[in-house]
Amino acid sequence: MTAQRIDGKAFAEGLRAKVAALAATFERQAARKAGLAVVLVGEDPASEVYVRNKGRQTVACGMASFEHRLPATTTRAELLALVEKLNRDRFVDGILVQLPLPAHLDELEVIAAIAPDKDVDGFHVINAGRLAVGQPGFVPCTPLGCVMLLKDRLGDLSGLDAVVIGRSNIVGKPMAQLLLAESCTVTVAHSRTRDLPAVVRRADIVVAAVGRPEMVRGEWIRPGATVIDVGINRVPGAEPGKTRLVGDVHFASASEVAGAITPVPGGVGPMTIAVLLRNALVAAYRNEGLELDSAAI
Ligand code: NAD
Repeated sequence: MTAQRIDGKAFAEGLRAKVAALAATFERQAARKAGLAVVLVGEDPASEVYVRNKGRQTVACGMASFEHRLPATTTRAELLALVEKLNRDRFVDGILVQLPLPAHLDELEVIAAIAPDKDVDGFHVINAGRLAVGQPGFVPCTPLGCVMLLKDRLGDLSGLDAVVIGRSNIVGKPMAQLLLAESCTVTVAHSRTRDLPAVVRRADIVVAAVGRPEMVRGEWIRPGATVIDVGINRVPGAEPGKTRLVGDVHFASASEVAGAITPVPGGVGPMTIAVLLRNALVAAYRNEGLELDSAAI
């Protein structure tokens, strides 16, 4: 079997087009643009790239982007004061503090300071709790993007066996909650799981969010399963001094067995920012008390 490639890049483009159309409607109704604030502390090169892309795509969707770049020496009090100011700013609908923060700053404390209704990353404990009990709130962007791709491919997920590899707060745990909400039978595997290949082999849906290059092999996959590869790992390339990106799944062997699979790059990666923009727009409609048909997005 040769798996169908799930084209996250194309799906993300479609989602951004919907966001742009609704952002234009929002601007007409609210007489202002929806606004997303991004806070970057320090000079982590990967974070610089993410923040630049987020800003560019926010503007391309017709929303306002407010970037706050702070030096690595920023104190706890200075950062918390900025978050507080953004919480009160009525032109800011969503706030994202780019992680990782420099070691002297407590990420959980900073996330807890963001107003839950502006927490478009969905990392605040209030939003994690809302997800756990099935109340509307903000859901972390990467796992929500994965569920969108799965539903687009499979339709109703109810009753399917899903295995999520990884239990981070950002990907693994919210992914498991979302699949449970879709009535999947969910297994969460992690670094202490015994016989991971046997666990993965049961799954109709495999979501790999581990951070280990090409760990999940084709032999582990049940024939016809749908494989979502969240991993982004930079490894040495064919030419000396060059690098390339690979996922947590060994793409060549897995695509021989799976029914469908996301490539890396071009699978889950592009979904994250598109879903962030979607969340920011939802926040804007809520903040202005305007109706938004959530099925439209
Ligand atoms: P993390 O390091 O916080 O968590 C990794 C998880 O993998 C842990 O829960 C751990 O228990 C599990 N794990 C580690 N070794 C394992 C093993 N041998 N067997 C089974 N489980 C094992 O990572 P994260 O933030 O969840 O990210 C995971 C991957 O997803 C990374 O490659 C990251 O770059 C990528 N990622 C991609 C996006 C995106 O936009 N596509 C977003 C976030 C993270």
